[in-house]
Amino acid sequence: MSEPMSKPMTVTRDRVVSLHCESRDDAGALVETTRGGPPLLVLIGHRMLLRGLERALEGRAAGERVEITLPPEQAYGVRADDRVQRVSKKYFSEPARLRPGQVTRVRTEQGLRAVTVVKVGGKVVDVDFNHPYAGMTLHFALELMDVREATPEEIAHGHVHGPGGHAH
Ligand code: ZN
Repeated sequence: MSEPMSKPMTVTRDRVVSLHCESRDDAGALVETTRGGPPLLVLIGHRMLLRGLERALEGRAAGERVEITLPPEQAYGVRADDRVQRVSKKYFSEPARLRPGQVTRVRTEQGLRAVTVVKVGGKVVDVDFNHPYAGMTLHFALELMDVREATPEEIAHGHVHGPGGHAH
């Protein structure tokens, strides 16, 4: 058995992966997709992707398709009932536009957080701090478009540079 002349580059830590990612819920309804836009650029091993997705991609090469199902604990967490909190309207960028059911961002001590509006009052808003996809089992379909080595600079910064990545 002789080694092939050139092995395809496979996914592992400190490589940059370009992929299309589609997720569906248990009923098959589309949750998120990169189709129709540019593929997602990910620096592997730097917590840019859900850990379960990185594990599923490990060792794969460009052109491969991967399907994986992640339960809530491995996706966006279990939904907790006690995470609805009353927040002053001053922490929202456009408080006049807030509507129940809307997913928006609120300024917190930990930075901007995605929340779902539950109820809008005069000066305060009840928001759900659960991630919008908390409690969902997600079925992911991934297609690897490209795998390359990250540059030393990308590894130091912890993100991808160039087209589709950070420009600075
Ligand atoms: Zn950078």
